Amino acid sequence: MNHEPLVEVKHLKKIFADSSGLFKKSKPVRAVDDISFIINRGETFGLVGESGCGKSTTGRMLMKLLEPTEGSILFNGQDITKMNDKNVRSLRKDFQMVFQDPYASLNPRMRVKEIIEEPLIVHGLMTSSERERKVHQLLDTVGLSRQHGSRFPHEFSGGQRQRIGIARALAVNPKLIIADEAVSALDVSIQSQILNLMKDLQKEFGLTYLFIAHDLSVVDFISDRIGVMYLGKLVEVGDRDSIIQNPKHPYTKALLSAVPIPDPHRRKERIVLKGDLPSPSNPPAGCPFHTRCPVVMEQCKTEMPVLSNMSEQHQVFCHLYDSKK
Ligand code: SF4
Repeated sequence: MNHEPLVEVKHLKKIFADSSGLFKKSKPVRAVDDISFIINRGETFGLVGESGCGKSTTGRMLMKLLEPTEGSILFNGQDITKMNDKNVRSLRKDFQMVFQDPYASLNPRMRVKEIIEEPLIVHGLMTSSERERKVHQLLDTVGLSRQHGSRFPHEFSGGQRQRIGIARALAVNPKLIIADEAVSALDVSIQSQILNLMKDLQKEFGLTYLFIAHDLSVVDFISDRIGVMYLGKLVEVGDRDSIIQNPKHPYTKALLSAVPIPDPHRRKERIVLKGDLPSPSNPPAGCPFHTRCPVVMEQCKTEMPVLSNMSEQHQVFCHLYDSKK
């Protein structure tokens, strides 16, 4: 595995002005609150957590669809948060996104070949006949036929539409693909087909993925390294084996306890978290997880945990490991 970073996220924050109460004084929403991580070239970094934890907002900042409030995002060594629009446009083809909902992310009025060709036209790449050849090649790469190119998105199943979305993302030879809940709308058997396709394409084209999902079993299947987010914070990050075989943060343990084991002889106890995810406009003091943590201590209610190194490849933010700072 290559350990050369393609993406370096440093102290990234996104704070939205809360527009909910018409008459009440609005509180800012800390959607992403000071997170740092790297994605190495050719690897899949999985970002996992409950809905509303800030993982999709993080993906959108990496795509330059949202401006961060603070922090930096280095892509290939260049800070994209400081780039002007012209420089961003020239870099944009290097990072592409595959969206959660294959039904909504494809223009229903365009034929599939036009959908796949569109990014090539936007970036002014290739002649018309070269683009046509490329579209045929891409349809083939994602397991569809040339004839499929003449049809409209509504004529396809969910899995086929996600294949079209992937072909479209691949058209401009990106370095990074951000897949945001890319398989969560699909049946389990179709999910594994798409995940296997993504793995095969990664090998073939040397792709780097940021794979965002709420389902830890999906993230486990595809990721080389995993970051666990809770209430806008990254609470644990490490290589896949450390996170799955030896999780340290109580929240990661709870998420893992909900993943079914496909072995009838092995049982594990489900950790049921009490209460709801607190509002990011009113996060608890101290550790953000302390209102739901099964092993909360007094210190957790007032002091924010700092990073503790479990190993070179495994870091956690939790007071249980304070001696390992
Ligand atoms: Fe639980 Fe305390 Fe660790 Fe937070 S810091 S996860 S409340 S033990």
